[in-house]
Amino acid sequence: MLKVWALTVVLATTALGQGTKREPRFAVERIADGVYALIRKEPASTWFTPNNVLIVGRDGVVVVDSNITSEHTREVLAALRKITDKPVKYVVNTHWHEDHIIGNRVYRDAFPAVQFVGHRSTLKDLPEIGGANRKGSLQNGRGFVGLLESKLEKGENLAGQPITEEERLGYASDIKLVSGYLAESRDFEIILPTVLVDERLEIDLGDRRLEILHLGRAHTGGDLVVRLPKENIVFAGDLLVHPVPLVGSTSYPLEYAATLERLRAFNAKTIIPGHGPVMRDAAYLDAMVELLTSIKLQTEASFARGESLEQMRASVDLEQFRKRFAGDSQHKSLIFKNYVTLPSVAAAFKQLSEKKEAKQ
Ligand SMILES: [Zn+2]
Repeated sequence: MLKVWALTVVLATTALGQGTKREPRFAVERIADGVYALIRKEPASTWFTPNNVLIVGRDGVVVVDSNITSEHTREVLAALRKITDKPVKYVVNTHWHEDHIIGNRVYRDAFPAVQFVGHRSTLKDLPEIGGANRKGSLQNGRGFVGLLESKLEKGENLAGQPITEEERLGYASDIKLVSGYLAESRDFEIILPTVLVDERLEIDLGDRRLEILHLGRAHTGGDLVVRLPKENIVFAGDLLVHPVPLVGSTSYPLEYAATLERLRAFNAKTIIPGHGPVMRDAAYLDAMVELLTSIKLQTEASFARGESLEQMRASVDLEQFRKRFAGDSQHKSLIFKNYVTLPSVAAAFKQLSEKKEAKQ
């Protein structure tokens, strides 16, 4: 009896596995005629895969960013196929961070004539800084998954506090993303840009034009923004990351606010961030300008006083911004600490030291 029951369960599970389609991991939002934003559903946490934008024109399709694994990108391509059968002519990589790059090969395999658009600095930064980052992720990835699993089991967060439901969901998402990345890493193929942008490139799809713009250094040294001038829609890449910004170790905190001001000047009616929901006003952008201006002013003042990095860490106070971006969330507060407070001060200190050396 027991055996029959067990067999039934196995069959039922198999049937369920084949019969039910997995719920898509992104929502498809139609932004304008022929413009679609694919907004990720993973909860905010420490690992990412980005939003994508699909722009369909008379002559073909522009896709903005690929994803952290080829599997994620195949899902995006399947969604595109439901919208149009036109070929992908260009993939724009908004910057060289791997979560925006790894799935490029899916488009290359499906559309052999596709061109990859990136900032000129990507040619150097992707193999060099990206290569070093990849080495670190591959060395530490398995350990990080193990750490998150043990935290989930123990019921505590990464800081040793009792775990919240938001943290449980975030860690579970991180485990999936890191595991997928590690599985793909056995046979990584990094595709570099074939069309380079210095400041501005225009793409004509026959019945619509789009601009690819480098507005200055910010989240990385080579951030690109995609703008549809007629519809006044912008895809900001990781210049905007919601709900907690990402001013990481490869960012340029001293220039970030000025770059955002240039983005602000477009007065776009729709802004799609690299991570997070579609924005219909500039409130979040303004909050980020204030944060980045404060980081710039505070780190410059500290450096002018001759403080060391350790002293700078102690004197820079971003508490009002932590409250603004993280609210009462223990999870988002930890993300703020790890993706804003700690790396932004270190990156600013590095920029200030390099500037001083260049003057001497
Ligand atoms: Zn990024």
